[in-house]
Amino acid sequence: MAQKLAIQGPDSKKNLSLPKEGWDFEKIEAELEDLRNLDHTRWEDGRVSGAVYHGGNELLEMQTKAIGKFSVSNPIHPDVFPGVRKMEAEIVAMAIQILTAFNGPEDGAGVTTSGGTESIIMACLAAREKAAAERGIISPEMIIPSTAHAAFHKAAKYFKIKLHLVSCPAPEYQASVPEIRRLINRNTVLLAASAPNYPHGIIDDIPEISRLATEYGIPLHVDCCLGSLIVAFLKKSGFPSPYEKEGGFDFRQPGVTSISVDTHKYAFAPKGSSVLLYRNRSYRNYQYFLFPDWSGGAYASPSMAGSRPGSLIAGAWATLMKMGEAGYINSCRQIVGAAKKFETTILTDPVLKSHIGIIGHPLASVIAFTSKNGEIETYDIADAMDARGWHLNALQSPPAIHCAFTMPTAKAVDDLLSDLIEVITEILLRIEERKEKGEQSVRPSGKSAVLYGVGGSIADMNAVSQFAEGFLDTLYKV
Ligand SMILES: *Cc1c(COP(=O)(O)O)cnc(C)c1O
Repeated sequence: MAQKLAIQGPDSKKNLSLPKEGWDFEKIEAELEDLRNLDHTRWEDGRVSGAVYHGGNELLEMQTKAIGKFSVSNPIHPDVFPGVRKMEAEIVAMAIQILTAFNGPEDGAGVTTSGGTESIIMACLAAREKAAAERGIISPEMIIPSTAHAAFHKAAKYFKIKLHLVSCPAPEYQASVPEIRRLINRNTVLLAASAPNYPHGIIDDIPEISRLATEYGIPLHVDCCLGSLIVAFLKKSGFPSPYEKEGGFDFRQPGVTSISVDTHKYAFAPKGSSVLLYRNRSYRNYQYFLFPDWSGGAYASPSMAGSRPGSLIAGAWATLMKMGEAGYINSCRQIVGAAKKFETTILTDPVLKSHIGIIGHPLASVIAFTSKNGEIETYDIADAMDARGWHLNALQSPPAIHCAFTMPTAKAVDDLLSDLIEVITEILLRIEERKEKGEQSVRPSGKSAVLYGVGGSIADMNAVSQFAEGFLDTLYKV
């Protein structure tokens, strides 16, 4: 969010009302080309962490065709679009098999959604409805890691579920299992764990949390939105995947009742595609919306949306079929290979290892690091990298930076490392110069530092909220 807020485009080209006569194709195409080429952070050169989960140009062309063939389709009318219904069911079936290393439960169930956030909020809703129906819970509560995705907070806000955050202490930065145990009470409707989480790329201790879920009879959601087809293919790609030893992080753990998997992240499907899996149909049915006596006719819809884009289901289905297991193993090798190179270099390079440290022991595509000895401000590194055209993600509590490797960023890992070394060397030089002149060290003043660097008081958070509100308003300025 600390990114550029500049609203671009020459004034003369503002379109504030419908053209009297429709434009011809050429004009629209030219305009679209201009819009695509507006000055932007160069994800194409691999300088943007996460964000663009690109599977290559050939795949992109095929997706565009698949979307085109189904652009009028809508799964709310399965009789009109039987192909879309079939593809959605097959995506769910494939996701169960992939996520459970082909040991999925016979009666596993699921739905596709518009993205990770919808998958997570539907899982929270289903857990709330289940507890209300089966246990009479009217004041629902959830227990989630402090590092869990913002979507859980959104669900808590939308569905009035009280949220308890558990800390994720150093050195492993996994959710504290004793804290979860202490917070469980009769109103607890859902536990959650990440595989891995967004900030640090750390996978929580899912076997242990599953034991708690089973002991207390509470559903457990595993957020594998980001992990998606990377985590699923770690072992087959030759990388450590310790959870395989303990029976996986998925439905093979008896306490796990739902899993969210984003096909629009590391499955490389077009944006607007995620899968929410349930251990069996009895969990899934609690997210359904049924309205038998609507004046518009008996109505049933599986998730938040009514009409849904069948085109994106076709895009996701075609992507899974095109990539195949071999394709995902190949992409996992490239992406996690780059992440491992980044991690190893930080741990061994003389400049890097003395000034920055890795957060926890990440296994997949996200590596987070932080300033090691307080000599350098973490946000100074973030801002200096930014000035060199990198778009890494600044994190807070604790201050840190992460890079989510993707196909484009994997190719740029050597440049990323050499820039990081140069940036840290420059910051150290500046500190030396100031010391020699007897000047006081100054607080960082770049944009990351301005946004996050002032400490976490309530007043500061209010200021950040105000800034964020203004940011959202700006998005709608024509
Ligand atoms: C990306 C992500 C999500 C969901 O995000 P969407 O932007 O809604 O797809 C959920 N959890 C984690 C860990 C993520 O990284």
